[in-house]
Amino acid sequence: MSLVGFETAREKTMEAIKGKVAFLYGPKDLRIEEVEFPPLKPNEILIKLKACGICGSDVECFEGESAEGRYDLGPYTPGHEWAGQAVAVGSGVTSVKPGNKVVGDCVLPCYNCANCKDGKMPSACLNMREVGFRPDSPGGMGEYMILEECYTHVIPDDWDYELGAWVETFNVGYWGVWGNGCAPDASDDCVIIGAGPIGLCASMVCKNSNARVIVIDPLESRRENALNYGADFVVDPTKQDFQDEVLRLTNGRGPSVVIECSGNDIGIASLFDLAGHSARVGLIGHSIGRKVPVEIGKTIWKTLQISGSGGTDRWFPRTIRFMSTIKDKYDFAALNTHHFDFKDIHQAFDTACHDKANARKVMLTFGK
Ligand SMILES: [Zn+2]
Ligand SMILES: [Zn+2]
Repeated sequence: MSLVGFETAREKTMEAIKGKVAFLYGPKDLRIEEVEFPPLKPNEILIKLKACGICGSDVECFEGESAEGRYDLGPYTPGHEWAGQAVAVGSGVTSVKPGNKVVGDCVLPCYNCANCKDGKMPSACLNMREVGFRPDSPGGMGEYMILEECYTHVIPDDWDYELGAWVETFNVGYWGVWGNGCAPDASDDCVIIGAGPIGLCASMVCKNSNARVIVIDPLESRRENALNYGADFVVDPTKQDFQDEVLRLTNGRGPSVVIECSGNDIGIASLFDLAGHSARVGLIGHSIGRKVPVEIGKTIWKTLQISGSGGTDRWFPRTIRFMSTIKDKYDFAALNTHHFDFKDIHQAFDTACHDKANARKVMLTFGK
């Protein structure tokens, strides 16, 4: 098949090349197909993929359980946690050179619609495209992809590609902490609910903002892990006195910052009890499509400032700079518990779907 949206006339900057690309046609219907990539437009970059993580949302779509109904849109190429090498650039591209290691935004705003012109978040774009989730957008699970320059970001040469594949995830956790004003510093006690990939990134961000970090997760393996990625303390929420424990760890004040990264009903409900007075609360974990009973009155009683993270906004360059300063402090490579070559993508998804407790991050690699 040909890639949708590439029919328009293009400036002939290179010969068309062929490559294998995965397409999700519907739940559990993932196919690898040969695609011909057309010549680049002046503002486009041809990227050879080198690494691509499988995200929890990819698993949801694959299983047909995305509350946003994204899997209804197939066929599309999954993969938004990717890193690759620019192999050719359009005639107008100035910020990326062939040979550069690159990563890219997930949500692609048009910058022209009423909402974009009004300065709203990319996720508000009326013509929104989204890498890895839509037929009109490229995805990272293929040998090559074409992406416009404005969404493509160069990472330093001394990074490996698998670290680059963590930029998208880290940018979500980082934005959830800093993009919406939770703004921790050395005076703050931060509670992170949920120690999945996003929770660990939020934990590292809070720690490197000099706050004290308490991570809450019911799984022992995740709590142990959190101690290696920013947490000063970990708390088991299945223990009856876990709220007392958080109070004790915060000298009776309760946390001044709470970052909800679990999307779990109990996790979400508990933050209204856990948060200290005047706490800044960031919601990152997905709970779309469900109603979660919470004691909302505590928002008023405690004067909570609650902000939702609907994506991120021009946050990749900042994320790359942040990660550059901490990449040698934390073992990012150890977060990739499983590796599969792209040709074994079905096995990779099988592992991500059926071994959720152990498969922290399943990473696809692309040939040797
Ligand atoms: Zn993701
Ligand atoms: Zn727009």
